[in-house]
Amino acid sequence: MVEERQHRLSPSAWNRYETCPRMYWLSRQGLPRKAGMAASLGTAVHASIEDLLQINLDGRELSESNWLPNTADQILQKRWEEEKQIFHETPRHPNWKEDKYKEARKQQAGAVHMLLDHVGIAGLSFERITVALWKKIQSLVIAVEGELVTKDGHLMGRLDLLLAEIDKEGKLAGWLVADLKTGKAPIGSLKPEVNRQLRMYRDILLSNNPNPPPVRAEGWYTSTTSKWVAKGDNVLEDALAAWKATQITEEPLAPTPGQSSCGGFCDWKAWCPHWLKWRHESGSLHKGDFADGVILIHEYKPAQGIAIVESCTPIGDQGEVEPNGDKRSVQFDGRGKEVLEKLLDDGHEGPIFIGSAMMNRDVWRVGPWCDVLPWAPIPDSGR
Ligand code: SF4
Repeated sequence: MVEERQHRLSPSAWNRYETCPRMYWLSRQGLPRKAGMAASLGTAVHASIEDLLQINLDGRELSESNWLPNTADQILQKRWEEEKQIFHETPRHPNWKEDKYKEARKQQAGAVHMLLDHVGIAGLSFERITVALWKKIQSLVIAVEGELVTKDGHLMGRLDLLLAEIDKEGKLAGWLVADLKTGKAPIGSLKPEVNRQLRMYRDILLSNNPNPPPVRAEGWYTSTTSKWVAKGDNVLEDALAAWKATQITEEPLAPTPGQSSCGGFCDWKAWCPHWLKWRHESGSLHKGDFADGVILIHEYKPAQGIAIVESCTPIGDQGEVEPNGDKRSVQFDGRGKEVLEKLLDDGHEGPIFIGSAMMNRDVWRVGPWCDVLPWAPIPDSGR
């Protein structure tokens, strides 16, 4: 179903469009969404920092210390549980990894360290953060988790933190857009797509405010407590061109199959007729430790989770496939097994897409991290 609300372009949708217009189009079709541990961890950390920055400290002794460690942990635990529930309710999800909570705590601590650094007190232990100091940090927060939308309503972004920058005399020197990042920190410079995302926040802010102070946008990488400033020209003209190009249409947008698009993270392969043909023609089908495939199940033994399958190869441009005689055993386990059995119980017959299966062995393995979906490519003419 095509989304009906007004079309608005976010930086992540823009990036998706630049990677592959068909990927962008498929992401707007209401197809079953996929959850991932890294994204859920990131959301929980973000939310916990936003909560901490909005915590009401009225009536508390300004000199009170040693309150932050427990408070931060309690808030993170609450957000962690919420994320866990959302994760399990998302149709496509791997196993939840409870042991990642330790990492979430580290990332949360990284964000707190960067906030301390913003007020010029780097390296203070959490026990020594007083109520007065936290109130000082809170006083510099202009917005938390704010939605930025251009006046024409075409472009949008969700900023994590908008902070005041104060000079030595205590006067407002500028605005700082701080975007918390729980992923891998850059080496050398920001990735172009992240740089563009940050500039888009900066430039929407500038365009919406007639007399703004100097505005900077930074990626705050919590894993290394490193801050990376976005550099470059205003992006709004390019963003507007991308907005025009990404109008939602009934007809799918063009695909750009290749290593940097399909070979990266595309969540929509089971609905795309093009990657299989590209893999087949480039000789890279089923190559690598973890790879995707389309299979036909001939026999399934639920007690062992073993299936006898036949690989499929493309015979047309629109995702048509035929079994190619390559028969092998596949071990299904964990969530991969559960999802396969549900599919078979629901009466599915025909080809099945398996995503990120272990294929560097005679018996392939489809484990909890894998996608198992009916092979249902949407042709170029649409549905
Ligand atoms: S599988 Fe490849 S071609 Fe198809 S939508 Fe994804 S990235 Fe684009």
